[in-house]
Amino acid sequence: MTEGRFALERAGLDALRAALDRLDEGFAALPALEAASDGDAAALRRVLLETAARLTDNYPYFHPLYAGQMLKPPDPVARLAYALATWINPNNHALDGGRASSAMEKEAVADLAKMFGWDEHLGHLCGGGTMANLEALWAAGRLAPGAVLASAQAHYTHERISAVLGLPFEEVAADRFGRLDAEALARRLERGGVGTVVATLGTTATGSVDPLPGILRLKERHGFRLHVDAAYGGYFRLAENLDAPARQAFDAIGEADSIVVDPHKHGLQPYGCGCVLFRDPSVGRLYRHDSPYTYFSSSELHLGEISLECSRPGASAVALWATMRMLPLERRGTFARRLEDSRAAALDLHARLAKDPRFLPAFRPELDIVVWLVRDASLTACSARARRVFAAAARRNLHLALAELPAAFLDLEGAGIARDRDTVTCLRSVLMKPEHREWVGAIWAALDAAAGA
Ligand SMILES: *Cc1c(COP(=O)(O)O)cnc(C)c1O
Repeated sequence: MTEGRFALERAGLDALRAALDRLDEGFAALPALEAASDGDAAALRRVLLETAARLTDNYPYFHPLYAGQMLKPPDPVARLAYALATWINPNNHALDGGRASSAMEKEAVADLAKMFGWDEHLGHLCGGGTMANLEALWAAGRLAPGAVLASAQAHYTHERISAVLGLPFEEVAADRFGRLDAEALARRLERGGVGTVVATLGTTATGSVDPLPGILRLKERHGFRLHVDAAYGGYFRLAENLDAPARQAFDAIGEADSIVVDPHKHGLQPYGCGCVLFRDPSVGRLYRHDSPYTYFSSSELHLGEISLECSRPGASAVALWATMRMLPLERRGTFARRLEDSRAAALDLHARLAKDPRFLPAFRPELDIVVWLVRDASLTACSARARRVFAAAARRNLHLALAELPAAFLDLEGAGIARDRDTVTCLRSVLMKPEHREWVGAIWAALDAAAGA
């Protein structure tokens, strides 16, 4: 490989070695120990190279021309801090298993809570958005019995989680922009029996932001519990280039009873890092148990006392903590600017699509996800065309995604497209890497060629 020109960045590997030396110094008082893996360096090398070869069978998630699903590599500092922590391999279930990493988790989670305007909170990291939402709905089901309501565009996990928890689940209609329809919600609330409403700030398919201020007015009247699923969109609270409806929703997020955000989506972390936050710390009483064998070392809070999962990677907390040291969650800071770049990239792509007679974008993106139809005479023909462009783009190294969306998201009459079915296969692009801003031109060129093919 040519020196200095790698596809995969490797800045910081020297820093990892230095950090490992520093970590080692901390244990210098122990009797000397032979490192276990020194035994068969040749076998280690052979297996690692074989592993690397296997891993090349992936889409290039790290490259800006990968503009399909919600995938990107972690920030280098997260990757290296995670690797560093695995030399210790702490378990954040209990302080005995991860003293330092538990303290780092509490600090990192408190910073996430502060981002949402909470000085007080109860919360912790967990395996991902699914586990985080499970805990939020588990608490919700105990504190506010009744049906769980979420929009038709909410993540499908809510329906499955409700089934796991034995809670009745009902879907509320989404509007033309993929947001929860507040009028449909109001009508449903009049009939009673609702325990919890889930608002999604950043839907997975289209990045739509549910109208939180309107939902909060309904909460005042009906007194349901409000859970905000911001697994994807939560960090956009820091972005300064949102349109007014999304801005107002993110400004009101602190009024929720619980919030989920996924550091492994927009928080630059390796997979295995979700976060659940409760506004009222007394929710902790729901987790009470009296295990005789876990907690002896101190009277301080063990994270395992407020988490459904038991063993959890301390390395996740270490990686998140290190990332937030380097890229603090501040408005106008580097981290926030990168989110703004993603959104600017989405607006740029949307504007190009809107001007091109071959395409029809669904609506102006609220975050950094763009969805559009490839025009033809009918929705069936448009769907087939989207699949062809998807494949032709992939041959040009441009990786997009396909999404099956309600026909109502598109202005079909204005475009003269026959509605011969209720959903349509659209192209979808998640522009979640800040580099996308500079690469929209190249993405457009590849899309243009693919659509012409
Ligand atoms: C990704 C996502 C989830 C599921 O989270 P995982 O981390 O994949 O388990 C839930 N809700 C929303 C809005 C999401 O985008």
